[in-house]
Amino acid sequence: MSSLFIADIHLGNEHPEISQRFVRFLQQQAVAAEAVYILGDLFEVWIGDDAVQPEHQAAIKALKQLTDSGTSVYVMHGNRDFLLGQGFEALSGCQLISDPLLIELHGSPTLLMHGDSLCTDDSEYMQMRQQLRSPAWQQQFLAASAEQRLQIAHQYRNESRHRSQNKSLQIMDVNTGAVKTIMEQHDVTQLIHGHTHRPAVHNMNIKGQTAQRIVLGDWSSQNSSLHCDEQGCRLSNLE
Ligand code: MN
Repeated sequence: MSSLFIADIHLGNEHPEISQRFVRFLQQQAVAAEAVYILGDLFEVWIGDDAVQPEHQAAIKALKQLTDSGTSVYVMHGNRDFLLGQGFEALSGCQLISDPLLIELHGSPTLLMHGDSLCTDDSEYMQMRQQLRSPAWQQQFLAASAEQRLQIAHQYRNESRHRSQNKSLQIMDVNTGAVKTIMEQHDVTQLIHGHTHRPAVHNMNIKGQTAQRIVLGDWSSQNSSLHCDEQGCRLSNLE
């Protein structure tokens, strides 16, 4: 019995080779796992379940094959695909999960997150996050045509790239105080998240106990995945 964790695949039309690698990963590795957790930003952009882009079809089909074969696939919203909804669940057989989510991972209470909500030093980002996650903004966005939505998404992405260039790496990383607070709140000694694209296992101390924060890498260069079973967890790059 094993579980796989991945995040930040960022599937899109700019890098078809990542989609191919992702489909291969589902067919060859994920199929042997009991559960697969995708912790946000599976898609570079998701403009709504009613406007699935052609470049996403192959990945969705492969996810459906995997879930049909008996592997449970859980998908968390990231900051780019937070509009994934019930339509996506029906197409893919995946189950959307909340952020944060507390699970029992082979005996260890473990908190799963995308990670962007922990980047509290980046106040500009946190403000934008609040706007994009508001029902009013989402309702207005989904009422626009698919072309308009793509255009708006493109605009947001360019602006955020531009702003990131002027921010320090530290500001865009998670805030260690925010990490400690949420782990203490949920009484866990293990946190798994993505978003920062900085794969690592950080040892820490929570309520006097040894704890770990495992950060998943992305798929553009790192091919990162975390494999967990009764023996423990291993963070690795796919071959
Ligand atoms: Mn992200």
